[in-house]
Amino acid sequence: LVEVIETELLVIGSEGAGASAAIEAARHGVEPTIVTKGRIGHCGATVTIDGDLDVDSRSLHDQFHLKGADPRDSKAKFFEDMVRGGKFLNNQRIVETHVEDAPKALQALIDWGAPYPELNRVMHASGHTYARGAWCPGPKITPAYVNEVRKQNVKVVEDTMVTDLLTNEGRVVGAVGLDLLTGAFRIFRSKAVVIATGGGMRIYPYTTAPEELSGDGFAMAYRAGAELINMEFPMFLPGVFVWPPGLTSVDIPFILSTAGEFQGWMLNRNGERFMSRWAPKTMEWTTRDICSVAMMTEILEGRGSPHGGIYVSFSHLPKNLVDHLFDWMDPEIAWKYGGFDVEKYVSKEGLRENALEAAPACHYWNGGIRITVNSETNVPGLFAGGEVQGGTMGANRLSGNAATECIVWGLRAGRFAAEYSSKAKKLDYRESQVKELQAKLRKPLEDEGKGISPVPIRLELQKLAWEKVGVLRTTEGLQQAISEIERIKKETVPKLSVSAGNSSTTYNKEWIHAIELPNMLLVLEMVARGALMREESRGACYRREYPETDYPNWTKETVIAKVRDQMTFRTEPVTITKLPPPTKKLPYGATSE
Ligand SMILES: Cc1cc2nc3c(=O)[nH]c(=O)nc-3n(C[C@H](O)[C@H](O)[C@H](O)COP(=O)(O)OP(=O)(O)OC[C@H]3O[C@@H](n4cnc5c(N)ncnc54)[C@H](O)[C@@H]3O)c2cc1C
Repeated sequence: LVEVIETELLVIGSEGAGASAAIEAARHGVEPTIVTKGRIGHCGATVTIDGDLDVDSRSLHDQFHLKGADPRDSKAKFFEDMVRGGKFLNNQRIVETHVEDAPKALQALIDWGAPYPELNRVMHASGHTYARGAWCPGPKITPAYVNEVRKQNVKVVEDTMVTDLLTNEGRVVGAVGLDLLTGAFRIFRSKAVVIATGGGMRIYPYTTAPEELSGDGFAMAYRAGAELINMEFPMFLPGVFVWPPGLTSVDIPFILSTAGEFQGWMLNRNGERFMSRWAPKTMEWTTRDICSVAMMTEILEGRGSPHGGIYVSFSHLPKNLVDHLFDWMDPEIAWKYGGFDVEKYVSKEGLRENALEAAPACHYWNGGIRITVNSETNVPGLFAGGEVQGGTMGANRLSGNAATECIVWGLRAGRFAAEYSSKAKKLDYRESQVKELQAKLRKPLEDEGKGISPVPIRLELQKLAWEKVGVLRTTEGLQQAISEIERIKKETVPKLSVSAGNSSTTYNKEWIHAIELPNMLLVLEMVARGALMREESRGACYRREYPETDYPNWTKETVIAKVRDQMTFRTEPVTITKLPPPTKKLPYGATSE
């Protein structure tokens, strides 16, 4: 079954960025179509947002009148914190636009119906000089943009995994995908495309991210000729549970040592507060890249907890103070977070006496598709917005800035793609390309029982990602990872198939895994090769043999491009508009001389 869907603008991804892009495009008089792997409002990372959305505190005070906002803040200070937090690898032109547009993002959410009282508190996270996190939990903001998408009559195609972009005459002219519920092949013909597919965190076995996020958008953009930058910087969140098993990889806002004013102490098995060796002044109140590297060092060097983490303790606080710390938080968020009944596993009483066991997990993607401030990629007709874009966060993201990013950059991508679409002529797709992509997509199903199941290979890949391309990286480990990726690409990928008897076309997970696996391999290869090239440690890319940040030689973007079917890497200077980087090599984490 083949279905062709005609549209003026195709938006791939339905959440913070995708929905914002479609809403904005519709406001500019273009009729967009959203296509999404899941269901709008219920897939991707946006619905899982803990709560903070960053805007400079002065605007939160003057424009939004939020409790806890601090008028001493400014957009310039917010800009500086982002650049220092990103270890000077951010594209400063993008950061300027981000801080400038941040209040518009919050206003848009309120206009679409996000509950204002929810927002009437501001969180202060590490790396921010002032409290900037307007409180917007994912489940409270998704209904707002879903309503607005409906109000604007945007067509939404759900449960459809886009597998590749269509190109003709050097332009992107649509995409193809698989209807996950029926197995139908879908062709989207469009004047322009916005990619808003979020990150690739599912490449790692320990992740806070939902299952749609297997890096498909990076892979399809790369195959269509788009450049990507800084892919060696997937971000790891330090505060997820490793125990009890029911909570593994769940990030719980109230234990985060790096978000909110509430701080636990991180201890190793000797009871040492090991952050004193990494950030003696700020200790746990430092940025999440540094906390993750410090934690993982303890774990790998044998000073961790029994279940593979470190300890987070609150026993230094008086017992009644621990109770008070929860008062400002919505009990739904503190104790019933993300549908987990946390209180079943961790009681307040227990928390006063016993440490929790926590470790880092992959949480966000700092690198991504290279865009201009007008959200264009280097391929005409292709735009990108939200977590899938690179350049905003540099080498590390500050808490609360991704919620802002998906709305700010979704809106921008929608606006500029709509302007492009309204002037562009609709081109046909190439039949030969469509046929080839359809055959590629159906092969694992048609080869039922004859090839290799993707299920164990996916687990193998995730193990490889964690052990060799995880928080701490060595030259040898990265080289081993690259040769293993090469081997899987050559020997296994061409033979991927569903198992005998598993030929259902209705949400066949094995078939979906077979389509996702080459994307995951491609993205992991970008991370590993980029990390190997970068002979320094900066933000979320820590090289054990090169523990310093080499500001004079490595304040550079790694640019990835497909050239004659080969993955190529080059470096380019980072765009600096206001804040020059340090001029010397500095210890990991330091941002001033
Ligand atoms: C647990 C958790 C908590 C977080 N908390 C915060 C927070 O408190 N503050 C903050 O600032 N940030 C937070 N973040 C980060 C933030 O949620 C994300 O960066 C942001 O929501 C990304 O929005 P997005 O629209 O770009 O992508 P997503 O929300 O991830 O949406 C991606 C969309 O792309 C679709 N998609 C993917 N692949 C395909 C495909 N092949 N075909 C079709 N559709 C596809 C998905 O179905 C989905 O619709 C958190 C992240 C997680 C995982």
